[in-house]
Amino acid sequence: MAESDFEAIVVGAGCAGSVAAYELAKAGKSVLVVERGNFAGAKNMTGGRIYAHSLKEVFPDFEENAPLERKVVHEKISMIGSESCFTVDFSSRELEKEGQDSYTVLRASFDPWLAEQAENAGAEFIYGIAVESLLKDENGKVYGVRAGEDEITAEVVLLCDGVNSLLTKEAVGYERPKTSQMAVGIKQVIQLDEETVTNRCLANGSGEGAAWLFAGDATHGRAGGGFMYANKDSISIGLVATLSDLEKADTPVYQMFEDFKKHPSVAPIIRGGKVVEHSGHMVPEGGLGMMPELTADGVLLAGESAMMCVNLGYVVRGMDYAVAAGMHAGRSAASALDFGDTSKSGLSCYVSALENSFVLKDLRQFRNFPAFMEHTSRLYNEYPKMLGDIFNVLFVVDGEPVKPLKKSLLPIIKKVGMMNLLKDVRGGMKAL
Ligand SMILES: Cc1cc2nc3c(=O)[nH]c(=O)nc-3n(C[C@H](O)[C@H](O)[C@H](O)COP(=O)(O)OP(=O)(O)OC[C@H]3O[C@@H](n4cnc5c(N)ncnc54)[C@H](O)[C@@H]3O)c2cc1C
Repeated sequence: MAESDFEAIVVGAGCAGSVAAYELAKAGKSVLVVERGNFAGAKNMTGGRIYAHSLKEVFPDFEENAPLERKVVHEKISMIGSESCFTVDFSSRELEKEGQDSYTVLRASFDPWLAEQAENAGAEFIYGIAVESLLKDENGKVYGVRAGEDEITAEVVLLCDGVNSLLTKEAVGYERPKTSQMAVGIKQVIQLDEETVTNRCLANGSGEGAAWLFAGDATHGRAGGGFMYANKDSISIGLVATLSDLEKADTPVYQMFEDFKKHPSVAPIIRGGKVVEHSGHMVPEGGLGMMPELTADGVLLAGESAMMCVNLGYVVRGMDYAVAAGMHAGRSAASALDFGDTSKSGLSCYVSALENSFVLKDLRQFRNFPAFMEHTSRLYNEYPKMLGDIFNVLFVVDGEPVKPLKKSLLPIIKKVGMMNLLKDVRGGMKAL
């Protein structure tokens, strides 16, 4: 066969793709990144926060030059009823320590920075072109990509094209996921001035901020939740709703989002702000159970094209997995190129690297959590209501003679059922 145009082609310039390209270029390989957006990050979306550990492994001094918004020093989780809000508010110096830190980011600036690192290392990028299919030889080995009229060849292709990958089926025979494994996310970036964000998000200084997740009324009691992240001079706000449950809802997701923004615990934070960005994206929530094969002859998958994402309700992670998987994908592809074997067996070092890293260990650990979330609808409706009722009993003083606490609280808890409560706590602990 004629010599390939590039040693490696990376499809997609998101977190996984640019990091993979950076590693390949750093190893001296010729690498082309094909991105359908007009610039890196043009089509990408995240809630808001990247855990820094994996980024640090690739770019040890990223804090000095990456476009980070704020360091998250404050964690809040709320269960909200239609007019109530029960919040766990946590801050700790542990959240700030190197390697344990996390930052809010905006993809429109963060992704171009990642791409620039790869470009500086020698990777080439073409933008505004979608890869439509893979080139395969008579034995089924991938040897390049087709984009419009163009065919570009390479020894190895890295699919980093995100959750809606149209190429994974061609590459590894992956069927589309079930609606119970996928959620839709919608988000707005609301601009405010820097000081207002600092004050409203309980941060000490302008470089610090909070992450805030919500369950309950954010999605009108349907599976999913809301989120809010403090950026420098804006707030990222949105919600994520599981598709299979959304089908049964009588409120469309855009209306849920509008109602969420008006919730008494949310409205004062974003008051007076201007919407400067509006986006929508899918979120893979099925964990290990929806993960495709990670390699085939001539091709490997990293990031959300391989469904590497975890939504635990109190923590949402995808970007640190994408960065780590991109790093391992780039390094493994470079080593397979060195050995002159980019077959499935030659690329198996990628799977081993992921097996030994937190990526597959975490996904294995959380493998039962998606089913727990799917079958525990009380988390989204009955528990937020119960907490609202309990705290109304504690805090409302109206001059009526006070009843014994047990007498007031028991009927509220009985509505949910003590056994259900115990079962759900036990189920949650087992799934985590
Ligand atoms: C609402 C929401 C909230 C989230 N919150 C968080 C959070 O707070 N923290 C966190 O860590 N994660 C979060 N995530 C998940 C996180 O954003 C993703 O896991 C992460 O972006 C995946 O990175 P990736 O590189 O795999 O894919 P992406 O970032 O999606 O990049 C894929 C790239 O491929 C390109 N592409 C796609 N198809 C083609 C094609 N055919 N040809 C060429 N290019 C193509 C796309 O344009 C894109 O640039 C959230 C996601 C959503 C939707």
